[in-house]
Order: sequence, then structure tokens, then C-alpha cells
Amino acid sequence: MSNFEYLLSPIDRIKGVGKKTLRSFNKKKIFTIFDLLWHLPVSKIETAEDTEIEDLQIGKNYNLKVKPIKYNFPRIRNLPNKVICEKNGERIDCIFFNSYEGYIRKLLPLNEETIISGKANNFRNKFQFVNPRLVKSNNSVLIDDENKYSLTEGLTLNKYNQIINSVFQNLPDLDEWLPKEISNLFDNVSWKECVIKIHKEEITKVKDTKYFRRLVFDEIFANFLLSSDIRSKIKKIKKKNKTLDTKYQNKIINNLKFKLTDDQISALKNINKDMESKQKMFRLLQGDVGSGKTIVAVISALNAIRAGYQVAIMAPTEILAIQHYKFILENFKDFCSPEILTGKIEYKKRKKILNDLLKNKINILIGTHSLFQEKITYFNLGLIIIDEQHKFGVNQRKKLSDKGGKDCDVLVMSATPIPRTMMMTIYGDMDISLIKTKPKNRQPTKTYSKNETKINEVINFIKAEISKDNQVFWVCPLIKESKKMDHQSTTEKYKYLSKIFKDKVDIIHGAMGKEEKDNVLNKFNDRNIDILVSTTVIEVGIDFPNANVIVIENSNKYGLSQLHQLRGRVGRGNKESTCILMFKTGLSENARKRITILKNSNDGFKIAEEDLKIRGYGDILGFKQSGLKKYNLADPIQHEDLFKVAEKEIKKIEKKNIKIKNFNKLIKLYDKVAVINDTI
Ligand code: ADP
Ligand code: MG
Repeated sequence: MSNFEYLLSPIDRIKGVGKKTLRSFNKKKIFTIFDLLWHLPVSKIETAEDTEIEDLQIGKNYNLKVKPIKYNFPRIRNLPNKVICEKNGERIDCIFFNSYEGYIRKLLPLNEETIISGKANNFRNKFQFVNPRLVKSNNSVLIDDENKYSLTEGLTLNKYNQIINSVFQNLPDLDEWLPKEISNLFDNVSWKECVIKIHKEEITKVKDTKYFRRLVFDEIFANFLLSSDIRSKIKKIKKKNKTLDTKYQNKIINNLKFKLTDDQISALKNINKDMESKQKMFRLLQGDVGSGKTIVAVISALNAIRAGYQVAIMAPTEILAIQHYKFILENFKDFCSPEILTGKIEYKKRKKILNDLLKNKINILIGTHSLFQEKITYFNLGLIIIDEQHKFGVNQRKKLSDKGGKDCDVLVMSATPIPRTMMMTIYGDMDISLIKTKPKNRQPTKTYSKNETKINEVINFIKAEISKDNQVFWVCPLIKESKKMDHQSTTEKYKYLSKIFKDKVDIIHGAMGKEEKDNVLNKFNDRNIDILVSTTVIEVGIDFPNANVIVIENSNKYGLSQLHQLRGRVGRGNKESTCILMFKTGLSENARKRITILKNSNDGFKIAEEDLKIRGYGDILGFKQSGLKKYNLADPIQHEDLFKVAEKEIKKIEKKNIKIKNFNKLIKLYDKVAVINDTI
């Protein structure tokens, strides 16, 4: 066995690790020696006694059972975050430097009894712990902030130390995998040195050192290398190149009611180039809400159809599928024969659609997820378009791309702005076209907040807007616990508004049938109704440029990005638009913060960055469900510089065609823990 293999061998290879210890480790998902090393002790807790706050002596270590009662997150750089804790009527503050809010909220949930551990300090006559080390129960060791990894189950601290020390003694010297210039950034410290160092020292002491940062870099780099590898594998898939008809395309473009923006044109060029090449396209079209992605995708679809292929468009909701279908039918029916296929279609109709597809009588099929879940045989599918997709992980996307067959190009659209540092992590497997600027006719949406007790003011505002021929979305409270309740609250609001606005109001929600939804959307589109009461089903994609007011109830319940998406339903035409964020009395500090950010910015990327700061990257944008794992050490905020270095290095490697194989060891070590995670 080579030295390197030692790291990947199961931990019962270590002397003193028997069946029982092995089981305890395995429960914590520690299987190999590398896994063990990778589970870093965030802090080592001294055994200390629980004391009353008034008995604390400055400079000594304590464990205290406390209740966090209040947060203080100053928005000013370099000011530490604070959590005020209570014990038997006495107060102690926890001060966190270099921390961010999402992390602290998770670490110290309000009103939950927690044991904090640290050195007693006194500041302006108040006790405090600075960067306290935390534990949940008396004799546990906090190893991992995410899993609250504790050694209590069948594993004592002594035993753990004995095991880890034995590993250190056998740790091999590995050949350096980092390129020289990168290694220089960390004074050429070796992986081994770093690992030992950060296990032996307190994490708070090594966190900003070259030892820690090198390991952070390894983690990011390994992850990027893996994405890059997937991308190059996709690129190696040879396909039949499509022959595009530019004259035909220009005819379509010239017939549009508006002029395409420069970014739209250049995105189209990218896509065309991909479709004409012998390599399979796997491209992300990204642009903020309302930037005009649909038309780019539709023109690409028409190009593919002209070249003799079929196209499938997948939308995240039925409402959006209907809208796309209508848009194509109304504007481009001379150029294609579209059809819509959703889950609820009756058997006979469905059979006919499937039959027509096979005969190429339908050359553009629009639908929801079901397009990929069921067995549909195409005549010759040449392009898959996936709209508003941001909840898929790398492997899910890869599978979608495989499904279309080898001649099939894939275009993915997303309005979800990704903070710059997270781009490679999330979309490293794809080529990217960005639509940065919105069409020129747009004016920023004015955003206001209103206490729900002032609903009459909102009603008056809406009356005035409607008298100017404008239309309104009214989004009802999100009630997470129950879908049924969601509909109830919408129905109630619908009744309330109907009393005031009579038959000029209608309602739409997810539980309605396709025909019903279709009907309502038609009425809204034809301006037979002025107000559309809705659940968040309208959140993504919906496009009614005449609607220029959106009221969002209980806006404090939504995350920033979601509010931005909802707000993006208006401001899509050339009219001035308004977003009213309604809230209940007693807003939390955080909700207040979110509302302020939205009032001040219409820029999705900026908002995403703020979201990242507030919530921590694991929670942003719904990536939790995406199968995207968190980094262990790396943090996109604290290590932004290293993310940049890694990205630059990857680009260099790709450009110079350096073989990924050169980094085999790094990849092998980190593969299992990589952020990319197969969840399908
Ligand atoms: P999104 O990028 O959010 O999917 P859409 O593609 O739905 O946005 O476009 C939003 C609105 O902007 C649509 O009504 C669309 O017709 C319109 N639009 C798209 N491109 C332009 C343009 N170049 N000039 C003016 N309006 C445009
Ligand atoms: Mg869209």
C-alpha cells in the first residue's frame, strides 16, 4: 500500500480502533483516515464547571448553561456580532469577531438552552465571552459546526486524542499537488503540516494562518477541478452539428416588437455557435428578472427547428408552461408547431400528443418536470431548454443533458443571481452567457413597506392605479406548514378585495386545474380583471408587462432573493412600477434589514450578495434542496480571495489543456467531501 493509500484506508486500520469505536465513527460519517482528519475540532473544550454569572472570575474558563435572548448584528464592518445571553436573571454577552449572521443564528438559536464555553471577560462592566466555544452538552467536544459533531457516543476525548495522534505519526509526506505559484502563496507549507497544525492548535488561533488557508484553498480547488472535469467530459461528447439559417433568424428578429439588447444578441451568438459546433452545448443563460431571457431561448428554439430538430422546453410551474406555450402560439405559430404537455392532461389527448411528437407533427413541446420524468419518444430532439432552473445540482443537470441523447443541446435559464464567488461552485460545469443589462425601456420598481394595519392606504393607491389602466398582483401570505392554509388565505383576500373591486378581481393558486388557471391568466392578460390574487405560484417567470403593482403580504416571511423574484413580476414594460411590502407589527431586526435592502436596490446581484451575508451561503437561493453540500472549511465571504485565485487557476488549466490527472490525489481525497453531491 502506498503512502497515499493510507489516507483512504478505513479507520479501523488504526491501532486501538475496534468494532465499537469504528461504529461510533461511522455514525458520524467518518470512514477513512482522511475523513477523520477532515473533521476538524472547531474548538477543544476544557472541562470546566457550570457557574453562576455573578461568580465568574475574569480570565478563567467556564462552561455556562445559558439562554440566548437577543441578537445584535451591527451592519458596520469590523464591529463584532453580539448575542446577549441570560442565566438566572444575569446577563453575559457572546461576542463574535469575523463571523456572520447566519452562522451565529444557527449556533445560538434564541431561547434555546445552550452551554457556552469560554474565557470570562469584562467589558464596560458586563461579562462577556469573546468568540466562545460552544457545546450542547457538558462533556462533548464541538468538532464540527455543521453537524454539531460530538464525541460523546462511545468516544471519549482521551480516546480521540490517542487515535488522532497515532494518525499523525503515520501521516505520509505527499507530493505537492498545488502549482508552484499557488503553493508560494502559503509559504510552501505542505498539506501534512497544515493538517497537523490545525488539529493541534485551537481553531480560533489558526483560522487566519497560512496553514488553515492552504487547506481552504485545497478544498475549493478540488471542487472546481471536479466541475471542470465534468464540463470537459460533456464537451467531449460529439454531436451532429446543426446547420443554422441566419437569414431566417434575422427575419424573426426583425419582426419583433422591440429591438434586442446587445447582451441578448451576444447570448444568441454564443448559443448559435454552440449549436453549430460538433460539441454538445451545455450552457447557462443567466440574467436578472425581466432581462429578457425568454425571447433568446425562443429564437434559439426556432433556429433548431429550422435546422430540422425538435425542441423541448421545461418550465418549473404549469402556469409558466402555459404562458410560454401561449407566447409561442401567439407570436411564432408560422415558424413552428407547438404543443403543451402537463401532468393533468386527459389520456386521449396525451396519446395524440405523443403520437404527433413521434411523427414530428409537433416540433416544440412545452411542459413541466413531467417532460423528463415520463417516457416520451421524440422524432429527433435537438435542443432542451430548461427555464428558471436553479434548484438542481451538477449531477441532476448532467442527467438531464444525458436524457436528450447525444445530439441534443442543452440550454438552462436562470434568473437567480449568484454571488460572484459562488459562480464556479454552482455552475462550474456549464458555459455561461450573461444578460447584464435590462431592456432600455425599464424604470426601477419603487418599493415601499406598509404595516398591514394601513391596508386602506394600499387600497386607495390601487384604486388610483387601476383608474390609470394599470393592473395589480396581490400575493398572499406564505404559510409554510400547510398548502391548504395557503389557499385559504388567498381565498379570504379574494373575498375581501371582491367586496371593494367587484368582478375586477380573480384568484389563482397551485391547486387549480390547468383549464382553470389558463382561464384566469387569459382574463388577466385580456385586462378583463384588474387584480390577480395569488399564492407564490406567480413567483417565477410570469410575464404581464401591463401589471405594474405588486402587493406582497407578510413580506417578512420571505427571503431576499424570493422577494426580488416576486417584485420582478412588475417593471417589465415601460411603465413606472410599484412594489408594496406589507408586514405585521413587530418586525424582526432581520426582516427590517431585508426590507431596507430591497427598498434601496433593484439589482439582483447586489441583493444576492446581501442575502449571502445575512443567511450564509448554505441557505441562499434554495440551494439547500439542490443537493449542494456545504464546504467544510471554505467560506465564500471570508475566503473570497482564495475563491478568486482558484477560479483563475482553473481557467489557466483549462486554457493550457493541463490534464486533470495531475491533480488526481487531491481530487481523490476530496471527491467524497466535495460540494458536488449526487442526489438524484
Ligand atoms: P426574464 O429574463 O425574467 O425571463 P422575459 O424574457 O420574460 O424576462 O422578458 C420580460 C419582458 O421583457 C417580456 O415582456 C419581454 O417581451 C420583454 N422584452 C424582452 N426583450 C426585450 C427588449 N430587448 N426590449 C424590450 N422588451 C423586451
Ligand atoms: Mg423568465
